[in-house]
Amino acid sequence: MTGRIEMKTPLVEIDGDEMTRVLWALIKEKLLLPHVDLKTEYYDLGLKNRDDDDDRVTVESARAILRLGVGVKCATITGNEARRAEYGLKNLYPSPNATIRAFLDGTVFRKPIGVSNIKPSISTWKTPIVIGRHAYGDIYKNAEMIIPGPGRVEVVYTPSGGGEKRITVADMPGPGIVQAVHNLDESIRSFARSCFRYALEEKLSLWFAAKDTISKTYDGRFKDIFQEVYETEFKEKCERAGISYFYTLIDDAVARVVKGAGGFLWACKNYDGDVMSDMVASAAGSLAMMTSVLLSPKGAVEYEAAHGTVQQHYYRWQKGERTSTNPTALIFAWTGALGKRAELDGTADLGAFAKNLERAVLETIEGGEMTGDLARLADPAPARILDSWEFIDAVAERL
Ligand code: NAP
Ligand code: MG
Repeated sequence: MTGRIEMKTPLVEIDGDEMTRVLWALIKEKLLLPHVDLKTEYYDLGLKNRDDDDDRVTVESARAILRLGVGVKCATITGNEARRAEYGLKNLYPSPNATIRAFLDGTVFRKPIGVSNIKPSISTWKTPIVIGRHAYGDIYKNAEMIIPGPGRVEVVYTPSGGGEKRITVADMPGPGIVQAVHNLDESIRSFARSCFRYALEEKLSLWFAAKDTISKTYDGRFKDIFQEVYETEFKEKCERAGISYFYTLIDDAVARVVKGAGGFLWACKNYDGDVMSDMVASAAGSLAMMTSVLLSPKGAVEYEAAHGTVQQHYYRWQKGERTSTNPTALIFAWTGALGKRAELDGTADLGAFAKNLERAVLETIEGGEMTGDLARLADPAPARILDSWEFIDAVAERL
């Protein structure tokens, strides 16, 4: 095809599973390939392919993101026993996202995609709340154990250079459970840095919250490192940009978030970010109206949708139904990645295309053409619900 927009450097394209894989191909065919001479390095992270390949492809895709700088990822199945049976898997590997995040050591930023005809269920929210989720450690890298009966539980630290330090967790009078968690100063520091950089780039004030009144050492360490990074590296830049850094307790933060007007970056510890990003996405409309970007301190960026593979829709599609699955977050993953590529390569026409595609999606929804998840929330309600194919055609036409 002639007249298509050229790309200088390829994107790392990571394909995935189920309904999102179906939509992925459709987005490329209808929205991207007619306009862009798409250059990608393709990695197939479909579950069967990961299993056949002993999950090497996942690590290779993460390496490629480091090498090329920008990646775009489809949603992928995390294997479990049900999936083992469904796909005849040899092994169960960790979630690809966890593998990629561990490799890139990044922070995940999630931001709702706002449209004028869908009001957040929290009426005071005027501008989106962005969640910055720490992607390392805590309960996601825990060690846990069933305690069968009475006895002492201790944590023992054996320094590499020799010696020993121990504390008693509990003298257990009977059966119970125990869990140990950890984090690393360096990971917390790079989390804090990513958050300040994102806040400066997007001109948002930064909130961080933890529970340092109860967890004086563990959460206290998070608080201290954030404060130190702020004072030594970012205070002047933030003041010049007119944005603030604010620390409060996590319960106070939740209360303020629900009563507030939004418009800030909320840095969350790993678990808080997991839970609060679903809260923010649902209150803002739909999981399919949320972007997700992983910023690595090693200088790489990965864009994806915040939702999963939409499994139930996939089974209905397999039976021949044209489902009304919302492709917005997947499209925004592509536009985010293409826009970033354009910025790094200095290719203005590619950047403009990414912006135009985003605008076409928003205007299509605002014009009353939308999928079922949004139709339930829109005011005014649309006359008709589009299936994914009709919605993408409507966007293509507007584009
Ligand atoms: P999900 O795929 O996010 O879907 C949960 C429900 O949310 C759907 O049943 C659907 O609700 C709604 N939904 C999500 N995305 C939608 C969209 N684009 N359009 C319309 N509705 C949407 O989560 P899941 O069903 O719990 O997980 C399925 C698989 O995804 C799992 O195997 C999991 O491992 C994987 N997963 C992957 C990622 C990732 O790769 N980033 C993240 C999470 C989960 P209705 O059924 O009410 O329509
Ligand atoms: Mg979650």
